[in-house]
Amino acid sequence: MARTLPGPTVGVVGGGQLARMLGEAATPLGMDLLVVDPTPEAPASPVVREQIVADFDDREALTELAERSDYLTYEIELAGTDVLDSVSEETGTPVHPHPDTLRTIEDKLVQKRRLEDAGVPVPPFRGVDSVDELGDALDELGYPAMLKAREGGYDGRGNVPIESPEDLEGAFETIVEAAPGVNLGDPSGAAMVEGFVDFERELAVMGVQGDDERDTFPVTETIHREEILRETVSPARADPAVRERAREVAMDVLDVLDGRGVFGIELFETANGDILLNEIAPRPHNSGHWTIEGSLTSQFEQHLRAVAGWPLGATDRRSPTVTTNILGDVDGRQQATLRNVDRVLEADGASMHYYGKREVYHLRKMGHVTTVGNDDRDPAALLEETREIRDELTFQ
Ligand code: AMP
Repeated sequence: MARTLPGPTVGVVGGGQLARMLGEAATPLGMDLLVVDPTPEAPASPVVREQIVADFDDREALTELAERSDYLTYEIELAGTDVLDSVSEETGTPVHPHPDTLRTIEDKLVQKRRLEDAGVPVPPFRGVDSVDELGDALDELGYPAMLKAREGGYDGRGNVPIESPEDLEGAFETIVEAAPGVNLGDPSGAAMVEGFVDFERELAVMGVQGDDERDTFPVTETIHREEILRETVSPARADPAVRERAREVAMDVLDVLDGRGVFGIELFETANGDILLNEIAPRPHNSGHWTIEGSLTSQFEQHLRAVAGWPLGATDRRSPTVTTNILGDVDGRQQATLRNVDRVLEADGASMHYYGKREVYHLRKMGHVTTVGNDDRDPAALLEETREIRDELTFQ
């Protein structure tokens, strides 16, 4: 096909940092972005053609978005799936990935069942609807375990570890209180409980489904604390055979998903080198931010190429990279001013990515720093160096 520029306009539901980085990738491609987000001056607003200020499931706003765009996509799981589906049908503007994919993924229990049915290795899990059912499930699965809200949990919110039977009641209450998606009385269970995986490492693969091609980015290692992603190390410090197995599982996951785009595929590497799927995000993902500096094509450019049905870019790694999130380190909610930025600016090979959020609160994702190394450097040293830089950044 003889493509011409200027390219298509892509409408994005959500105007957070992912949309901001999509906007940064869109400009050189000659694409235009429009976003819908309820927060005025959302992170994406300075880098997109226009932000429509409205809720993610506002029919009128999504209709306007669809009418002004050639393709629709989303950067958050909270996009109103049904509204998105019907607006797409009415206006003829396609949504990628397909809303059915979002439907499958937004409910962790449905997601795990679908993947298990497709033969993807997952940790043992059960749907549970009461403390009693939770107790019964753990009699089978054993302790410890992780209780998860089926919907609405992200960045570790909506996950509660269970060490022993004494924790059952408190854990169940926490899930019901913390997660708006919990629907008591659901015949298949309001929440899900999963056997605790005593993992050697957490890995992530960004997979991409294009028009008639698919690919994966190199396997990265993800380091979480309090269930929130802190750092990624690329390439992952795992055996080449384990990395290959992770890639194969990611390719199998892509088989289950409908529609074009990039997918964040989060995995556990067990002590004996097995790979288990943790969860999928139907969009660019925090574990793929390293690709901006570290790969021939970034996950954001790749997502836009895929959504528009353009040929995919090469996913080869340019150089080893470490990425660390800049998280809110204050107690309350306050105006955001990041200090000691010179530390990043003065470090060779370090890149700053600030998301432009007006307010900061505890553990809010405010930006990230990527440090590019070379093949002669030990990734552990690169990680240490990047952490030192990050630890000096503060909002206090
Ligand atoms: P999630 O939001 O479900 O991806 O979970 C966030 C983090 O919690 C993961 O990256 C893991 O560090 C941890 N986690 C989630 N599920 C499990 C599990 N079954 N066993 C051990 N750790 C888990």
